[in-house]
Amino acid sequence: MDNTVRVRFAPSPTGHLHVGGARTALFNFLYARKTGGKFILRVEDTDLERSTKESEEMVLSDLKWLNLDWDEGPDKGGEYGPYRQSERLDIYKKYAYKLLEEGKAYKCFCTDEELEEMRKKAEEEKRPPHYDGRCRRLSEEEIKEKMDAGIPYTIRFKVPDKDYVLYDVVRGKVEWKSGVLGDFVILRSNGMPVYNFCVVIDDYLMKISHVIRAEEHLPNTLRQLMLYEALDWKAPKFAHVSLILGKDRSKLSKRHGATSVSQFKKEGFLPEAMTNYLALLGWNDGTDREEFTLKELIEKFSLKRVSKSPAVFDIDKLKWINSLHIKKLSDSDYLKLSEEFVCEKFPFLKNAYKNKKEWMLKVVNMVKKGLNTLKEIPDQIAFLFEYKPWEEKDILELFESDRKQFESAVLIAKKLSELDEINTESLWQTVNEVKKEGFKGKYLFHPLRIVVSGKNSGPEIDVLTESLIEGKDIENLIPIEKRVKLFLEHFEK
Ligand code: GLU
Repeated sequence: MDNTVRVRFAPSPTGHLHVGGARTALFNFLYARKTGGKFILRVEDTDLERSTKESEEMVLSDLKWLNLDWDEGPDKGGEYGPYRQSERLDIYKKYAYKLLEEGKAYKCFCTDEELEEMRKKAEEEKRPPHYDGRCRRLSEEEIKEKMDAGIPYTIRFKVPDKDYVLYDVVRGKVEWKSGVLGDFVILRSNGMPVYNFCVVIDDYLMKISHVIRAEEHLPNTLRQLMLYEALDWKAPKFAHVSLILGKDRSKLSKRHGATSVSQFKKEGFLPEAMTNYLALLGWNDGTDREEFTLKELIEKFSLKRVSKSPAVFDIDKLKWINSLHIKKLSDSDYLKLSEEFVCEKFPFLKNAYKNKKEWMLKVVNMVKKGLNTLKEIPDQIAFLFEYKPWEEKDILELFESDRKQFESAVLIAKKLSELDEINTESLWQTVNEVKKEGFKGKYLFHPLRIVVSGKNSGPEIDVLTESLIEGKDIENLIPIEKRVKLFLEHFEK
């Protein structure tokens, strides 16, 4: 028997890739990589009205950004293609007619109006709104008459009258009593197959061994089990992963904030952090460890440890995980990634990213430790290009409540203003002189910070001063000389 693991992610290209879909893709990817199997990407675009090419491109690019690379797919090809359902219509048709010939499905000539009437009647009689089976009972003659009259028809599957049981890898035993479903359409009158039918045909022909997908597909699984049986095919194993909820325990939706992968990218989250956090939504390694690289996730992942209970999406936890992965970035990766965020707010720094890499790295590195997202960088380095300590409430309050802070700041500013040139040496020499006048510890470094940065808090003081001194020639940077002058103009009255 062939035991090769083959799993798939099967997005419908009708919008962005959301966290739920991304997690499904991740679990499939991890399982394939862990077991040495294959990860297949299949685009389910038979809903012609809602599917778009742009959406397909977005979903693929989001998956690539997450580093979830696939082995077979619409852009890659493979032995079992095509991998876009809209290119497989003849295949579905063939199997629909096979079921028809074998008497496992039948032509249904009911109009939309008739079906609507049937539904209403069932509702009034408080019965489930099942198809009443009227076309199942048509005679050969009646069928021929309708065909000759050119009445359009769908192909409807004959639902067997029996119970079904699924042994789900995550949920355990799931049972359905007979009678929960009415005969359902597999091929529409316009020749388009329906989702549940395509999925079965594709999963079988693509030799999918495990279907790992969201719990909300569980009701579909019943239809799919019936179809496998009718086609005389062995069904794959199923693993239905629990829902992702918002903090209020309702299903995660836009109301809860960002939900699409591309939004998180724009907000300054790293793909490593996203995959790390998504893995924790419904899985753990059996310990309380929470920080994993993608490679570590591959090593640790198992379907056995996927939980049955719903997962709660917690943006603060994602931010924390993101902060851990930001700290791990190499200098060159971090510098590269920061550019987009920094230059969005300070476009003039494009030059520095090109020609003053070392200085730029020093600047972004000085705020790295405290970041939750890359989007926070510009605000944290904004002090380089702005200077208004007299408008900072906490500075004014400090000066008010602790006179010695104020006196020290004025003295530092005065002494610095007397220097011909402020460089690292002359700066620290001045600081030393102020120290000798009785300003020590918090009465030295804190006022120094206020004078040079114009802020009450920020990066470590020695890198902060270095970045200002070494950045003198950077466009729009306010040099310490000018800062000191402005400080005295405003405070020394
Ligand atoms: N195309 C379906 C969806 O996007 C997934 C089908 C499946 O995984 O079986 O929800």
